[in-house]
Formats: sequence, structure tokens, C-alpha cells
Amino acid sequence: MELTKSQKLEYVWKAIKKAYPKKRLVFSNGSPDMPVMIIGEAPGPDEEKQGLPFVGRAGKLLNSTLEMLGWKRENFYVSNVVKYRPQDEFGKTLTPTPEEIEKFRPALEKEIAIVNPKLIVILGRIAMSGLGIEGTMGQNHGKVLEYPSTSSGQARKVLIVYHPAAILRNMTWEPIFREDLAKIRELVNSGQ
Ligand code: URA
Repeated sequence: MELTKSQKLEYVWKAIKKAYPKKRLVFSNGSPDMPVMIIGEAPGPDEEKQGLPFVGRAGKLLNSTLEMLGWKRENFYVSNVVKYRPQDEFGKTLTPTPEEIEKFRPALEKEIAIVNPKLIVILGRIAMSGLGIEGTMGQNHGKVLEYPSTSSGQARKVLIVYHPAAILRNMTWEPIFREDLAKIRELVNSGQ
């Protein structure tokens, strides 16, 4: 019998657990049967504590913006490029390094191939480089690009949006964040 997407994902998580036995890992949440996959950077302290992605301040802004647009967080499959919280020796949260992003790339590609989303929503610069997409957020936000998935050879639509943590640092960008996320509806419905 064919394995479910969740069962297949379990194999990916198992391999990551084996590679990082000492890390407190945070995998995805939401159903992998949803048509839209949201990809962030890496878990922060709240996510690490709860073992779930986007449950801290940035996650709350993401949830409230999705709700304003008429969706619930449960309508999405949500994950991160890096599955642990990068930190220094004092426990301060760091931005993932290019090496960390590269190390997680094969697992992320497998994850995408398993979930097989109709649309990928990229939150911020790090997630963008997790998929090997070049350019700055200023150039790319609101754009829809093609992402060639190496595992399936199938091109997918990718919508690039600012990271909610960047919006928390500059709330004047909140309408842009909302406008960019609003494009999800048309992209999913049009079957483009
Ligand atoms: N920021 C991210 O990129 N991911 C999370 O899970 C939380 C904050």
C-alpha cells in the first residue's frame, strides 16, 4: 500500500534526527495535503520550546494576516529551511549560515517533493536562498517565480513574501506583506 505523505515525511524527519542527535529539532505543522506550503527560515526560542514552527511573535503576525485574508493557519502546511534554532555559545539566536542552509537543502527538496504543493510561499531572504533563488527581498517580494524541484523535475510556482519578523521591525510594511500574501488566492484558484 502507498505510504501517506505524513508517513513519507516521517522518514525525512528520522534522517534529520539521525544527522543532528543533539539538536532540539522543529519540523513542520499543518497538513501536508494542503495545496500551499509556507517556508520560513529557522525556529526561534518559542518554536524550539513548543516544537512547532511559527508559534512566536512572527508566527502570530503571520496567523493574523492570514486570518485577515480569510484563511486559517490550518489551511497551510508550514515548515522551515533549517530545522533547529541556530545559536551561539551563549544561546543567542543566530541567522542560519549559508553552510547550514546548504546542509538542509536536500531534506527540504525531499519535503517539497513529498508534500507536492500547488504553491510554495517563501518567507524572507533565508528561505529564498534555501531554494537557491537569487536576488534581494526588495526585488523579489510579491513576485511569482518557478522553482525546479530536482526530485520530481516538475516546476512549481513560488510566491516570495517578506518575513513576518521583518514586518515586526517595520510595521509600515504590513500592508505590503498583506498584499503579497493576498496573491495566494488567485495563484491557487487559477491553476496557473
Ligand atoms: N521564524 C521563522 O523563520 N521560522 C519560525 O518557525 C519562527 C520564526
